[in-house]
Amino acid sequence: MPPPLRAEGGFPVVGIVGGGQLARMCQPPAVALSLTLSVLAEAEDASAALVVPHSPVGRHTDLEDVREFARHCDVVTFDHEHVPVEVLAALEADGVVLHPSPAALVYAQDKLAMRHRLAEMGIPCPRWAQARTRAEVEEFGAEVGWPLVAKTPRGGYDGKGVRVCRSAAELDDWLSAVGEPGTLADGILLEEAVDFTRELAALVARSPSGQAAAWPLVETVQSGGINTEVLAPAPDLEAGLAAAATEGALRIAGELGVTGVLAVEMFEVRDPQTQHTSYLVNELAMRPHNSGHWTIDGSVTSQFEQHLRAVLDLPLGDPSARGPWTVVANVLGGEHPDLYPTFRHLMARDPGLKIHLYGKGVRPGRKLGHVTVFGAEGGTDSLTALRERARHAADYLQGVVTA
Ligand code: ADP
Repeated sequence: MPPPLRAEGGFPVVGIVGGGQLARMCQPPAVALSLTLSVLAEAEDASAALVVPHSPVGRHTDLEDVREFARHCDVVTFDHEHVPVEVLAALEADGVVLHPSPAALVYAQDKLAMRHRLAEMGIPCPRWAQARTRAEVEEFGAEVGWPLVAKTPRGGYDGKGVRVCRSAAELDDWLSAVGEPGTLADGILLEEAVDFTRELAALVARSPSGQAAAWPLVETVQSGGINTEVLAPAPDLEAGLAAAATEGALRIAGELGVTGVLAVEMFEVRDPQTQHTSYLVNELAMRPHNSGHWTIDGSVTSQFEQHLRAVLDLPLGDPSARGPWTVVANVLGGEHPDLYPTFRHLMARDPGLKIHLYGKGVRPGRKLGHVTVFGAEGGTDSLTALRERARHAADYLQGVVTA
């Protein structure tokens, strides 16, 4: 471990456990705010370790590694939700300031805990059940109809740990692990397969003293369980839905005691009779989120700056959008290991484009970065043109298109 870190002028040190791209994107606002970041990185070449000078290498699952790291931090926050509950509890007992707190974080770590808690709060969710046996799966299938969606309560991301099932037999491998220590200890989460019109995300931030701020609701487009595009704000959203969804996200943040950024992933559903739309909550993330990358260039305060402000209990920044539309397309790894030639070409082709790369080696399907475009004009035509520009840029970088 490098020697203890102290920042100048009484400014605090913010520690982030995990060296992924979310931690990396906290570095520019940390520099602007004169805060010092430190990252507990998986490896010397982790995305954030490449840009944060004090990035000791250690395991987030190892109490001694995290404890040693936390010693030089004024507050500790997270790049992901995979720090084990026992490690979090021990840090809290040591007096380490953790944001979000372990008590809140459990609802982002465990989808069964999240469903139980949101149901208690009366937050709209898909119909769901906790199943430990084939008979329970069959019973729920008979109630909501097949196919149904099965999820491992812990450890899922990017659609891993999510299965669409046409019969209980398709879950036999998971059912045989139920009750064993690990991700399936408490059983499987079952949900009705929601017939949604699209996916939305509400992004809010809350500070320990209870100040909260909400960004405009966005539409997230997924492909193969991976988010590929974000439209900010969500186009043609019913005003009542925007207000209800934002209020729901703020209530979740307040009642769960979330500190920092909270992303609430939602399904938009349409009532076939009235044609009115409403929301159902899919899942929670308590950290900056993929659906919020548009805020770097498209909002007065980015989600990364806001997360730093919130975990330090500083007054929050203005979450307003800078213009009528911001569109983000995610860049996934393709076949070409070398991005620099396409990167240069895109800069020349589209001077309004903002390219954000995460310093990661190219592997097919890996999230390498994102591109952002903005529209100064409202309206659907403007949005369609922006989506084409963003999609083209992401595809070109990946080598999916060559002109
Ligand atoms: P992860 O934790 O891997 O992000 P999610 O629970 O967000 O998993 O599910 C990934 C994707 O699967 C969602 O974005 C959505 O497209 C689809 N999905 C998840 N749950 C349901 C459901 N109950 N009904 C229909 N589609 C779903």
